[in-house]
Amino acid sequence: ITDRSPFETDTLTLTLYVMEKGRQAKGTGELTQLLNSMLRKAGLANLYGIAGSVNVTGDEVKKLAVLSNSLVINMLQSSYSTCVLVSAENKEAIITAKERRGKCLVCFDPLDGSSNTDCLAPIGTIFAICRKTTEDEPSEKDALQPGCNIVAAGYALYGGAILVALSTGQRVDLFMLDL
Ligand code: AMP
Repeated sequence: ITDRSPFETDTLTLTLYVMEKGRQAKGTGELTQLLNSMLRKAGLANLYGIAGSVNVTGDEVKKLAVLSNSLVINMLQSSYSTCVLVSAENKEAIITAKERRGKCLVCFDPLDGSSNTDCLAPIGTIFAICRKTTEDEPSEKDALQPGCNIVAAGYALYGGAILVALSTGQRVDLFMLDL
């Protein structure tokens, strides 16, 4: 968690943290690439402003959820590290185009709690990442894996402050957006 003081000189940012863990893991770098792409989009936080600026009816909340879903899907596919996406907003799994595929599967809800925005309840993005375990053409079957196969999971919470919680296995770390 970063200190908001402008004089803070020993701050561990989320990006540096993910890079360092990736370096220690000595893998292909694909998970690091995916996590960094996702974390940049913790800027979904900006959507919260949209929710606050209108008298939210069911329709508007829906639009917000749809917009955040498109943002998350585009960001995940542009990371070149995913093959199957499972979103709470889509009935069927989304298969990444061949030329942009990697080996990660991501299950997510782009805007969890979006129907609660009318009472100013916090909303968030939740996600879990696992790996494709077969060489077959990607399909929704790939996402049907036991929870113990998850390699990273977390959430961004757009509340009074913007918080990102991330676990890549051993522990859970919390980061605050420092604007
Ligand atoms: P990779 O081949 O780089 O996609 O990752 C291989 C494995 O190393 C992953 O399944 C993780 O268990 C671990 N790993 C890679 N990068 C990271 C990271 N940035 N943070 C934590 N664990 C990581």
